[in-house]
Amino acid sequence: MLIGRIVGAHGYPDLPIVDGVDTALDAGGRVLLPAFVDAHVHLDKAYLLDAPLRPDLDSAIATVASLRSTLPAGRVRAGAERAVDTLVRHGTTAARVHVETDPAIGLDLVHLHRKLADENRDRIQLQLCAFPQRGLELPGAAELLAAAVAEGLDVVGGCPYVDRDPGRHLDIVFGLAERHRLPVDLHLDLTDDPGRSLLRLVAERTAAHGMAGLVTVGHVTTLAAMAPRERSATLDLLARNGISLVVLPVTDLYLTGHGDPGTRSLAPVELATAAGVRTAIASNNLHNPFAPFGNGSLLHAAWLAGITRRTADPLARQRLLDAITTAPAGILGLAAHGPGAEPHLVLVDAEDPDEVILQAPPTVATLRAGRLVYRAFTPRLA
Ligand SMILES: [Zn+2]
Repeated sequence: MLIGRIVGAHGYPDLPIVDGVDTALDAGGRVLLPAFVDAHVHLDKAYLLDAPLRPDLDSAIATVASLRSTLPAGRVRAGAERAVDTLVRHGTTAARVHVETDPAIGLDLVHLHRKLADENRDRIQLQLCAFPQRGLELPGAAELLAAAVAEGLDVVGGCPYVDRDPGRHLDIVFGLAERHRLPVDLHLDLTDDPGRSLLRLVAERTAAHGMAGLVTVGHVTTLAAMAPRERSATLDLLARNGISLVVLPVTDLYLTGHGDPGTRSLAPVELATAAGVRTAIASNNLHNPFAPFGNGSLLHAAWLAGITRRTADPLARQRLLDAITTAPAGILGLAAHGPGAEPHLVLVDAEDPDEVILQAPPTVATLRAGRLVYRAFTPRLA
């Protein structure tokens, strides 16, 4: 039932709202954008900051792993629900969620996420990726990943850098993906040492399994540490093999870039895009040992990537916006995203589209399929 209309927004014609308000939403000349798509987020360890913090990857993995088997299910669920609320409040209406398949807890998190995805489908589409955070060399880990995929998850994930034999890890992941005709999404190269890059192993398997366009790699901070010529050859390798890149600024900048002074440990969004690599910017974690500063705002993540890469010209701003809208929509395999497509939209508190990436304004309203799923609280003055 049509019961409302967005009027006066910059960027789109007046739009119908199918539910949720009983009158027009006066946009007041603010900017309306395609809703944000988070290509990489973890809900099952959101809002877990009760352990000592050390900004390195091994400590973050060990801290969450030590909590994992004793955390009450209700605590995990509460954190995940809060994270979903936060994503929607920041204008995100679709997300690829990495779901831990850890032998310590079996398929519990898979079941929790399937329920969560179902309960929230009107607000946000949650695409679920099976994710072996502690690798596939633990007893039962490979079987558990296969069981999670057999339960109907959407993507086969991997984390080859935690195993002694990353090639075997990748063989298991790609084998499962090909058998089930699913995309692959890997945590990869979260290090300052280009000598430890696994990108070539991934490219070989992508070609061998005929999976161009269906493979995504997240982090890849090695790209920030490579010499220009090597980096350029590596970006070509990704583009040639149809491998998408997801940079995760809040985690990448917090956990890597070690040294004194440290480095700007973020893969070069602008160079990757220019080289023809589909490149997204995503959240990864919210308020936990991997990302204490993670707040679920993709606009903040893009803003941070822009500062880190020192890119502010109009083309760079457009690429940063694409990296949280159309590029991740492509990675998730969603239908066309933007004007003329299904109205998944975000209204932000800015009047000039050119300012959006530079100012990271607050979200005023979020719409999914034309339905108002979030509206900022407006105090009523006496
Ligand atoms: Zn991640």
